[in-house]
Amino acid sequence: MSAITMRELTKVYPNGVRALDALDLEIADGEFFALLGPSGCGKTTLLRTIAGLETASGGRVHIGERDVTALPPGRRDVAMVFQDYALFPHMTVQDNIAYPLRIKKVDRRARADKAAETADELGLGALLQRRPGQLSGGQQQRVALARAMACHPQVFLLDEPLSNLDARLRLEARTFLKRLQRELGVTTVFVTHDQAEALALADRIAVMEGGRIRQVGTPTEVFRRP
Ligand code: ADP
Ligand code: ADP
Repeated sequence: MSAITMRELTKVYPNGVRALDALDLEIADGEFFALLGPSGCGKTTLLRTIAGLETASGGRVHIGERDVTALPPGRRDVAMVFQDYALFPHMTVQDNIAYPLRIKKVDRRARADKAAETADELGLGALLQRRPGQLSGGQQQRVALARAMACHPQVFLLDEPLSNLDARLRLEARTFLKRLQRELGVTTVFVTHDQAEALALADRIAVMEGGRIRQVGTPTEVFRRP
């Protein structure tokens, strides 16, 4: 079954830039899927359109059986992790992780339990009362992942989540993401402009160019030399 189906998906920004151009793509249930391509090819726009943070100008997006094209982000059962993590600086780690649960009106006690449990799974158990400014880049990245995981979304959307980490932390984070994906089996769409990263992480890769999919396949298929 397809977790995410995009049909003739088009996004034209108000300034006339056609960031997605009748794009067709299917992502399978449980897949770790990388979107690869040069800056400006439309990767972030595609992710934001799946999340509902951008409205499609044309075409459809399905998540599972549901047509979500007209649904707001909160009703799509997806969680997105941003490049800069977008943590709330004035909130503790615990409150950052629990924030989406608060939006969903989960009661205080259950939120605290869920935040603590998720933090433990990600090795953040000792950091619950800290604020983001008191954490390393790698720890902030884990908090952003924990916040995304706490709601048990059907789909994870990651926009270059490793790009702010140094080389050593990035390697560690790759291993960590891969393990998480294997254990949770959540469909994950991962944006990167780094070929090595796509190769190391992805079950399949789509190479984008000018708002379209130029090529899609397993890492071996995409990177095979002619
Ligand atoms: P990528 O993530 O691959 O770098 P983007 O999706 O960010 O690509 O951008 C695709 C195209 O859309 C680029 O030409 C970019 O300048 C343009 N674009 C992105 N966001 C906006 C926006 N909010 N308003 C207008 N144009 C945008
Ligand atoms: P990336 O390449 O990582 O997608 P960018 O630096 O291209 O990031 O874009 C950063 C932010 O600026 C994004 O929110 C994007 O939507 C917005 N943006 C990009 N291009 C334009 C543009 N031409 N007009 C308005 N906003 C834009």
